[in-house]
Amino acid sequence: MANNTHLRRPKKSSGGARFTVVTFVVLIVVALCYLGYTYLAPMLGIGLTETGSETRQPVTLDGEMQLHVIDVGQGDSTLIMSKDGIVLVDAGPGSAEDSLVEYLKDVGITTIDYAIFTHPDEDHIGGADVVINNFEVKNVIMPNATKTTKTFEKMIEAIEQSNANVIEATSGASYTLGDIAFRILAPNKASYSATNNYSVVVKLTYGNNTFMLTGDAESESESEILAKYPASELRADFLKVGHHGSSTSTSTAFLTAVSPSIASISCGEDNKYNHPHRETIEKLQGANIKVYRTDLLSTIVFVCDGNTISVVEK
Ligand SMILES: [Zn+2]
Repeated sequence: MANNTHLRRPKKSSGGARFTVVTFVVLIVVALCYLGYTYLAPMLGIGLTETGSETRQPVTLDGEMQLHVIDVGQGDSTLIMSKDGIVLVDAGPGSAEDSLVEYLKDVGITTIDYAIFTHPDEDHIGGADVVINNFEVKNVIMPNATKTTKTFEKMIEAIEQSNANVIEATSGASYTLGDIAFRILAPNKASYSATNNYSVVVKLTYGNNTFMLTGDAESESESEILAKYPASELRADFLKVGHHGSSTSTSTAFLTAVSPSIASISCGEDNKYNHPHRETIEKLQGANIKVYRTDLLSTIVFVCDGNTISVVEK
């Protein structure tokens, strides 16, 4: 048996006097800490986190736009918020619909001015019906594309039962929402063999900053965009990389025209498609573009003041 007598508490040798002194010192230290925490920290600008009560974030600050690349697993959902309005681009797959609604409620959303459903694939519209049923969606923008799936039917049903105004995506059409402006750049043809190429591609402007949101548009659609619009109109600071970083999108010509400094990729951890593809990552890295991925970082929030874009990892 091990001898563990050395673990035993030694007997007190000096009685109550030492105990009183120790207690007094501890009380003083606790009091000083409390005073420092309460009065000194705010004076020094040290943030104190509220606990115990639910504090809802203000939507956004004046002069600020936020772009949230929401982690919906393998799928897409991008939220754009400013004090003047809310745009939601895609609603993720059905498997993430509850967490998407919770996220939107947590950041204080009640109304969505424009919901853009880029194309009828499940990983983009799986949560569309639930979003429409939980928030007041004023306008829905979508391409003239259908799909014979339950998911697509549920979205159409939800739209019909809502008061949303439905707008067919038209290349060249522009919209403004106070300090946010966006223009639709694709689709540019009436029909495609790949559903991905129906994707509504949007270039969004806030002050001097620009954002290219591509849905799952593949190189066929990218070529049409390049043929229709001058490169100066395609330049953007931020690129939501097409089709979850698949090698079927982000052609060199398109990437060169957009020439972003920041890019985001929305994809699920260890997804079965191996998104993002190595070729795409290499292209982005080769162009010195800072890449943010939801499979590695979960939800990513970009904050833009009209001149600079900074990132807040959640
Ligand atoms: Zn997709």
